[in-house]
Amino acid sequence: CFKALHGALGDCSCNVDTIDYFNNVKIFPRLQSLVSKDYFRFYKVNLKKECPFWADDSRCAMKYCHIKTCSKESVPGYANGYENEVIDEPPASKYSKKAKSDCSTDADHDPALGYLNTTISAASKYEIAKWKAYDDALENFCECDDRDADADYVDLSLNPERYTGYKGPSAHRIWRSIYQENCFRPKTNPYESFPYVLSSDLKNLCLEKRVFYRAISGLHSSINIHLCAKYLQSEKSGFVASPDGEWGPNLAEFQNRFDPSRTFGEGPNWLKNLYFLYLLEMRALAKAGPYLEREEYYTGNPSEDEETREAIGNLLGVIYTFPDHFNESLMFNGGVQATTLKNEFREHFRNISRIMDCVGCDKCKLWGKLQTQGLGTALKILFSSRWNSPESDPEQGRLPLRHKQHERLQRTEIVALFNAFGRLSNSIRELENFRNMLRSFMENG
Ligand code: FAD
Repeated sequence: CFKALHGALGDCSCNVDTIDYFNNVKIFPRLQSLVSKDYFRFYKVNLKKECPFWADDSRCAMKYCHIKTCSKESVPGYANGYENEVIDEPPASKYSKKAKSDCSTDADHDPALGYLNTTISAASKYEIAKWKAYDDALENFCECDDRDADADYVDLSLNPERYTGYKGPSAHRIWRSIYQENCFRPKTNPYESFPYVLSSDLKNLCLEKRVFYRAISGLHSSINIHLCAKYLQSEKSGFVASPDGEWGPNLAEFQNRFDPSRTFGEGPNWLKNLYFLYLLEMRALAKAGPYLEREEYYTGNPSEDEETREAIGNLLGVIYTFPDHFNESLMFNGGVQATTLKNEFREHFRNISRIMDCVGCDKCKLWGKLQTQGLGTALKILFSSRWNSPESDPEQGRLPLRHKQHERLQRTEIVALFNAFGRLSNSIRELENFRNMLRSFMENG
């Protein structure tokens, strides 16, 4: 599959080899160190939500699906108002009140004339908060569930994405319903079984629908690369550092999943979709960069928070230098039709985020939810009008845009965004490992 994995990606001016170098040398090491920081390690998620589409596949009994959750108290900074800071408002004590201006301009001012009533009753404050929540939800590509009573903190470093043994009808029902019911499929496609979509039919789709399919397919590739790269080598090996088993790359599994001869020729296209998704998420980070650089990354430990801010600035600085960013300004142009298409796009994606509650393996559900939330956040940054500053010029679509002052992401969205991009970056790095394994396998017979 590596022979076909070269050159142009399609739907953008970038190519695979440029991304390989840029990711493996510049992005991957920075990102891995960033997501291991406390701020990014703890993800709050509700894994107990009922599947809204079909009767739940009772909780997965496979031991490798199990998730270890954390008590709130063990999350750094939680006791200092961590949640309030990131979701509603900063803890009052953290920010000093703005100094009162000591130059009065009221000398010849009649207060009655310029009077602006800024008093808002508690009841209307509540209404306004509800309107804002409603407007925010309309702009969202996912439903955030971190404020649910059932939501728990998960330490991602203790629950790595890897082979779990989740497969068969339950896993297929998820992927099938994603591709067949919630992706925009080419009308000509007569296939009701594997592969769900043929890449050759994608040319019959408009750019927006193609981008949607390619993003989902890229996510699917990334998940499957991870399970090949951290495959269960042996159970209960007695290996002290890993008492449950040993995990490592499985080249045969990788080839089964991506070799053209075993995938109706699709494997290399699925891998290209991974690169495509990488570009899309990287562009969202670049676009939101000025905002992300100003975030606090509060965990209650000033030196750790400072390091996190520095690491963010450093990573974004490298991302800005990428020469061929995805150009989202080419999408959703064309009046009413474009608006309808964008709404459909958002609805389809929201449905996919709901389908994640139907995944029958908690570990897979955790990473599936995190990665769809990360992608949903990227899509919001790229396509919601709130993230486009009025002065944004389509010609300058590749530059980081100045966002409106009031636009904010929730902590959980930021954690998901960086970790999701971290997963894609890791997958591209793992491809390099598989390429090297294959080379040495060929050379040594
Ligand atoms: P599947 O991966 O189930 O794919 C089904 C069909 O989709 C394939 O036959 C092919 O026609 C098509 N297809 C495959 N790849 C692509 C692609 N990239 N683009 C387009 N079409 C494609 N398993 C783990 O071990 N660990 C995990 O962490 C994990 N996380 C998961 C998360 C989610 C949300 C889901 C739905 C499943 C997860 N799984 C995980 C299961 C894993 O993805 C596979 O479903 C499982 O290993 C069975 O693989 P399969 O070979 O039958 O094909």
